[in-house]
Amino acid sequence: MNRIAPILAAALMVAGCATGGGLGMAASHLDSSAHRFYEEVYYGRGTGHAADDAAMLAEAATDFSQAVDRGRSREELQPSFDRVADRYHHLRRQVESRDTRYSDSALAFERVTDAYLDVDRAMNHPDSRYHE
Ligand SMILES: [Zn+2]
Repeated sequence: MNRIAPILAAALMVAGCATGGGLGMAASHLDSSAHRFYEEVYYGRGTGHAADDAAMLAEAATDFSQAVDRGRSREELQPSFDRVADRYHHLRRQVESRDTRYSDSALAFERVTDAYLDVDRAMNHPDSRYHE
């Protein structure tokens, strides 16, 4: 009858795990959404400045996600997160200025934004579920 309890217990274990449930999850969402965005830009436009920028963000998101998986401290993660943030904001300025190179991939970029904001919260707020 009580089938929910084990699921809750598992969820609590994930949240309390050493690599950080909140940040780990957000970093992996950022990694996958950034790659999805890159694919949309690339298949829509082919190579060029837009695809290069999207590829740089995807690469930085992968590096960051791997650093989180390795259990790095916030201080150690900061330079890697700064790189993600730079590339994210560089793209965001172009997407927001309605640059036509990104018009087909605006929805994919919204998912990147959601994941980016989750990572930002987990990195910068001490009450987040990230444990060092
Ligand atoms: Zn650029």
